[in-house]
Amino acid sequence: MKLIFVSGGVISGLGKGITASSIGRLLKARGLKVSAIKIDPYLNIDAGTMNPFEHGEVYVLNDGGEVDLDLGNYERFMDLELGSDHSITTGKIYKSVIENERHGEYLGKTVQIIPHITDEIKRRIANVARDSGADVVIIELGGTVGDIESMPFLEAARQLGRDLGRGENIMFVHTTLIPIMGSVGEEKTKPTQHSVKELMGMGIGPDIIIGRCSRSLTQTAKAKIAMFCDVDEKAVISTPDARSIYEVPLILESQGVADYIIDRMKLKPLTTKRNMKDWESFLNNILEPKKTVTIALVGKYTALADSYLSQLEALTHTGAKRSCKPAVKFIDSDDLLHNEPASLLSDVDGILVPGGFGIRGVEGKIAAAQYARENGIPFLGVCLGFQIATVEISRHVLGLEEANSTEFDPETPDPVISLMHEQENIEDMGATMRLGAQTVMVAKGSKANDLYGKTVISERHRHRYEVNPNYIQRLEEAGWKFTGKSDDGRRMEIGELEGHPYFVASQFHPEFRSRPMNPSPLHLGLIDAAIRFKDDKTGTQ
Ligand code: GLN
Repeated sequence: MKLIFVSGGVISGLGKGITASSIGRLLKARGLKVSAIKIDPYLNIDAGTMNPFEHGEVYVLNDGGEVDLDLGNYERFMDLELGSDHSITTGKIYKSVIENERHGEYLGKTVQIIPHITDEIKRRIANVARDSGADVVIIELGGTVGDIESMPFLEAARQLGRDLGRGENIMFVHTTLIPIMGSVGEEKTKPTQHSVKELMGMGIGPDIIIGRCSRSLTQTAKAKIAMFCDVDEKAVISTPDARSIYEVPLILESQGVADYIIDRMKLKPLTTKRNMKDWESFLNNILEPKKTVTIALVGKYTALADSYLSQLEALTHTGAKRSCKPAVKFIDSDDLLHNEPASLLSDVDGILVPGGFGIRGVEGKIAAAQYARENGIPFLGVCLGFQIATVEISRHVLGLEEANSTEFDPETPDPVISLMHEQENIEDMGATMRLGAQTVMVAKGSKANDLYGKTVISERHRHRYEVNPNYIQRLEEAGWKFTGKSDDGRRMEIGELEGHPYFVASQFHPEFRSRPMNPSPLHLGLIDAAIRFKDDKTGTQ
C-alpha cells in the first residue's frame, strides 16, 4: 500500500482538491493505477444534510454516497468511479467506534482517540487501498493543519508513515499560501514556515510543498522554503493562479512533481512518457474557444458558484468538445419574480435549471422554463429542473392553473409531482432519498437516444419526488414526452417537448458523470442547441 497524503496550511480554499486530483492525473497518465480518498473532519456522517451555501454542492456517487464536491474533482481529473468508502468523515469514524464499543468489542478497555479512533481511520484507509487495487492512493485531508478536528487524522497519517515506511510508501504533500505584499513585493514565506512547523509538531515533516501564489515563485523563494522547511529544492512546487483548473496538472508536470514522486516511492510506471496529449487539446479548447454561447443558470444558490460545481464542469466539458466557451450568467431565481423574464433572459442562448430543494425560488424557475418554452430558447432541466418543467407545462399548456409539486404545495388540486411511494413513511433525513446510479431506458428515436447513442443508460439520482403517474398520459398528449423511464417503466426519467428545438429535462443528474473527455450528453445537447440558436439569431451560417 502506497499513500500520498495532501494537507493544507495557512488558509482553507487553496485548491487542495485540485492539487490532489492533478497529481493523480499525472500518475495515471504514466499508466499507474490511482485512487483517492477525501477526509472531512466534520461530525456529519456525510454531506447529504448540508446546505450547499456552506460547503458547495453535494456530490453523488454511483452507490448513492452523498459526499464532498472534491470527490467530483477526483472522478473528473482521474476518470474514476468511486464509492462512499472513499469519503471518510469524523462522523463515520466515531459512529463505528461507538457501535463497536456497544457490541463489546473493546470489553474491559478504555476507548480512546489513540489507539481506537486512529486505528479505525487506518483500517478504513487500508480497506480502500486494498479494494481499489491502486498502485497509489491519494488522500486529501480536509481543513487546515492546526484545526482541532483534523488532529486524529494527522496522527493516524503519522502512524501510517511509521508502520509502512516514510518515503517509499508514504509521502506527505503540504499545500500552503505564499502571499505577496504590494504589487511588486516579494513572496512571503513566513506563513508557510509556521504551518510546516505546526505539521512537524504533529510528527510529520512534509516531502513536497506546493505554494499557491498569485504568480510563479522565484527560485530564491523556493530555495528559502526548501531550507526552512527541510525539503528538497525540487520538491518546492509553485502553483500560480491558473487560467483554468484543468491547467493545474500541466503546471505541476512542468516542475517534475510526478517524476519526483515516482522516484521517491519507487513506483513502476508503464511509461516514462507524459501521455497528456488529449488533456492538452482539451485545455486548449477551453482557453482558446472558437465561439461563445451564454447559458443562464437559474438557481437559488447562485451567490456561491461551488453550489453548482458539477453543472459548471459539465458545461466546460461539453463546451471544450465543441471549442465553444459557455459563458454562464447566474440568475437568482427570485429575481425572476420581480422582473420581466425577458429583461434577464432575452440575451441568453440557453437556460439551465439545476436541482434544488425547498420552495424558495421555485416560482422564478417556473417563469424561466415558461420563457424558454414560449420563445424557443434551448432549455435543460435537471432533477428539480425536470419537475419544474413538468409543473410549468401542466399549468400553461394543460391549463391546470394550480398544478404543483406536493413538496411546495401539499394541498394542490393537481399534484403533478408527488412523493414517491416508498418515501411516504420516511422520517430520517440522512441518506434516505432515491440515490445513486439507476438504469434508465431511453426511447428509440428520441433526442436523448441520439445524444447517448444507446437505449440503456445509467445515471445518478438524488430525489424524493417524481412525476405523478396519474398525469403521464395528459402530459404526453400535450407534447411533454417521457423518453426515458426507469427499467420497470414506472418512473419518468427524461422529458422532451415536441416541436421545440431543445426543451429537455431529466430526473437524474447527468452532470455527475460528465468527464473532460466524455461530457454529459444532455449538456452537450444544450450547448449544440445554444450554438444553433445563437447562429440563427445572428444570421451566421
Ligand atoms: N426536491 C426535489 C426532490 O426531492 C428535487 C431534488 C433535486 O433536485 N436533487 O425530488
